[in-house]
Amino acid sequence: MNIVVQKFGGTSVRNLECQRQVMQKVLRPYREGNKVIVVLSAMAGETNRLLALADEWSDNPDPAERDSLVSTGEQVSCALFAMLLKQQGVKARSVLGFQAPVCTNNAFGSARITDIDSEKLQKMLNEYDVLVVAGFQGCDAEQRITTLGRGGSDTSAVAMAAALDADVCEIYTDVPGVFTTDPNMCTEARKIDRIAYDEMLEMASMGAKVLQIRSVEFAQKYNVTVHVRSTFSDEPGTIVTQEDETMESVLVSGIAYDKDQARITLVHVKDTPGVSAAIFSPLAEQNILVDMIVQNPSKDGKTDMTFTVPRADVDQTIKTLEKLQYEIGYEELHSNINVSKVSIIGVGMRNHSGVASKAFQSLADENINILMISTSEIKVTCLIDDKYTELAVRTLHNAFQLENGDTTETP
Ligand code: ASP
Ligand code: MG
Repeated sequence: MNIVVQKFGGTSVRNLECQRQVMQKVLRPYREGNKVIVVLSAMAGETNRLLALADEWSDNPDPAERDSLVSTGEQVSCALFAMLLKQQGVKARSVLGFQAPVCTNNAFGSARITDIDSEKLQKMLNEYDVLVVAGFQGCDAEQRITTLGRGGSDTSAVAMAAALDADVCEIYTDVPGVFTTDPNMCTEARKIDRIAYDEMLEMASMGAKVLQIRSVEFAQKYNVTVHVRSTFSDEPGTIVTQEDETMESVLVSGIAYDKDQARITLVHVKDTPGVSAAIFSPLAEQNILVDMIVQNPSKDGKTDMTFTVPRADVDQTIKTLEKLQYEIGYEELHSNINVSKVSIIGVGMRNHSGVASKAFQSLADENINILMISTSEIKVTCLIDDKYTELAVRTLHNAFQLENGDTTETP
């Protein structure tokens, strides 16, 4: 049997009218004789509403009960959608996380999928033509309901596709696909036709919020091709898949930014073994994600250490480091919360030089000062003053001619 996996996000299932449009998307592969797994999110806004209720009821909601509560959003959209299908004469049923079952660990609120019972799903597919599966939820070894973290329905869908060996996982959303950059920042942003997993991971982790990062990791691990596309049009969207030669000939695929950044500098840190560990281990223990790190060459046995953290964690970071001033042995701590990261991303950078310098030159031409730089094989990130974020994004988009989809020229 041929199985098609489709996932629809919250805006696509938010009311009856939208669900009717979703039904048209589902009926197509069904009428072509495929079995269809439809993974649904909660109606738009519902998960937030439920989380707010938990906070209203309790200062410190029990994590297992909170998951039990927020998972109901998906139960509602799945039951309603299954009713619509049945009314059309389709053999369909809703399937909740514990019924599939989608087995997870017990990290409530951000559980990881450990196993999906594909045999049981196959059996259900013998009996039904469409299974409407609740995204975002699973159950742990103790049969308690878990959730997979915000945006987790994407991961549910990719996991279903992997478990059932489907050719593609279609993720339907309210935008036409993945763009070269945020269209709200740069009107010339263009839909990308194909993007490599690694590029998508970088785009997603830099704040391009179309897909949950974990779903991309999952897709890469199990080699599931993901097609991100719009519920409200028939246009093809963006294919997220394995890297191929055509992708490598493109130098830069996209520009990402992250305004949620803060920079910390520790001045005159002792330059001895163990100092970095003394600074960063206490931060890691508190799950503070440190990103760019620069250590200056030392002078008279002292050095400066600069790094970035998410803006929301800056107070916690400062508090932690101030307590450790004596142990770490720094003289001053400076912080700046008015910074943002702008990155150029592309697998083509692996084989081409000069991409970074072209980016630096175009920022310089606009008089944008670069505060810090970090690079990976497929990414160059610049930390800049956040008031220039939009200008930097547009400048880089223009410099690499992303509006044309033609960036194959060597810089
Ligand atoms: N409903 C969940 C959320 O809002 C999961 C999802 O939509 O993917 O995060
Ligand atoms: Mg989403």
